[in-house]
Amino acid sequence: MSTTLSDEARTKSEALIERVVAKNPGEPEFHQAAKEVMQDVIAFTTEHPEFAQQGLLERLIEPERVISFRVAWTGDDGSVNVNRGWRVQFNGALGPYKGGLRFHPSVTQGTLKFLAFEQIFKNSLTGLAMGGGKGGSDFDPKGKSDAEVMRFCQSFMTELFRHVGADTDVPAGDIGVGAREIGFLFGQYRRLSQRFEGVLTGKSLDWGGSLIRTEATGYGCVYFARNMLERIGDSLKDKTCVVSGSGNVALYTIEKLNELGAKVVAASDSGGVVYDKEGINPEKAAWLKDLKENRRGRIHEYADRFGAEYRPEGEPWTIPCDVAFPSATQNEIDKSEAETLVKNGCKCVAEGANMPSTIAAIDVFKDAGVLFGPAKAANAGGVAVSGLEMAQNSMRLSWTREEVDAKLQSIMANIHNACVEHGATSTDHIDYARGANIAGFVKVARAMLTQGVI
Ligand code: NDP
Repeated sequence: MSTTLSDEARTKSEALIERVVAKNPGEPEFHQAAKEVMQDVIAFTTEHPEFAQQGLLERLIEPERVISFRVAWTGDDGSVNVNRGWRVQFNGALGPYKGGLRFHPSVTQGTLKFLAFEQIFKNSLTGLAMGGGKGGSDFDPKGKSDAEVMRFCQSFMTELFRHVGADTDVPAGDIGVGAREIGFLFGQYRRLSQRFEGVLTGKSLDWGGSLIRTEATGYGCVYFARNMLERIGDSLKDKTCVVSGSGNVALYTIEKLNELGAKVVAASDSGGVVYDKEGINPEKAAWLKDLKENRRGRIHEYADRFGAEYRPEGEPWTIPCDVAFPSATQNEIDKSEAETLVKNGCKCVAEGANMPSTIAAIDVFKDAGVLFGPAKAANAGGVAVSGLEMAQNSMRLSWTREEVDAKLQSIMANIHNACVEHGATSTDHIDYARGANIAGFVKVARAMLTQGVI
């Protein structure tokens, strides 16, 4: 059941991807994301040629703007350090550019182009008025003092502030960018612009943040998995779940899974995996959250504290589970990991991270009839609540936790329904990846076609 294309669609798709590769050398993750989306989109446009006018696909695959800049900052020891910063403003047809900032040594322009490209369709799926963007730096916040992180953020924003604004481009957090970094970035924006406005989301609750924003990506991903299971008459109750990562997305995925009666047996960080056969219950999950959010500790400390098994440098996909939640980073599940998951009985995969499964892994899931919730649908809860934060900032009011959670659940259900509508196959199985690509594409395409050739 992996994607089958007509000859015409295959030829067009291969030609487009060839042009993408030639024009964007050394950016394999961007090539991968473009291929994954464009295969489905081109198959769709061969049946709906009205969407193949005005060079639409060629324009869609080209970022509107890529800004790159030097970020110089001083270490506590007086050393001068130089990093590179970027903001990719990929597509603004549906609203101000919106997407997180990632601070991690592995960040390149290609990483951010893949993330910004994915963000276009994800933001479209939420039904809110947001274009697609992403940014970040090859700066590594790990091991830096708060004062060093502050000086870095101030230097980063000193350049970025010219390009962002509440109605222009509204960044948020991502890997390495949490509440601390958002605070420093916002402070510098306010100093430079003399404006107190919703230029960033993920802000502290005391000065413009939204309730549930911190939890939204993890919670939303679990809601999406619940929607997929409910459609086939099943639920998350008593399901054994494996989660990768132990950052923002992973921690709130674990929290919501516990709330819904599932059992989480694994979590990880870049050092290794903990396998807790008894389950990371709410008390242990709260301890883990404190370890990661407040003490900036390592996952092996969890194993020491609770007597769980620790597998250094391991990955969680060999641990048997019913549902898998990859929530760390891109390409963490390749073909062989996907095959192991299927062999061990995994029935459902909901992607909390962006592009955690390779194209070959997705094909394995599709062929095995696994319920596969692709990132741009399953992890859209974070940006959806960012959109709700922007709305509250514009109105200068705050909704309650219950109000925001109800809106989040409703948005995830709408995304699920859109995927079902566009991802129906000849069997009862839903191709959620195709559904998300097409549903996300149609809205952006309509906006681009009516806004003229720009
Ligand atoms: P965090 O920085 O809070 O956590 C990332 C987690 O993944 C950490 O446990 C980290 O371990 C681990 N990790 C990161 N890189 C690697 C790697 N190369 N190998 C192994 N483990 C790794 O990030 P988030 O939780 O915010 O983001 C996780 C994923 O979710 C990313 O793909 C992000 O783009 C995506 N996402 C996040 C959203 C959000 O609202 N935050 C919204 C939508 C998607 P360590 O600490 O050891 O580095």
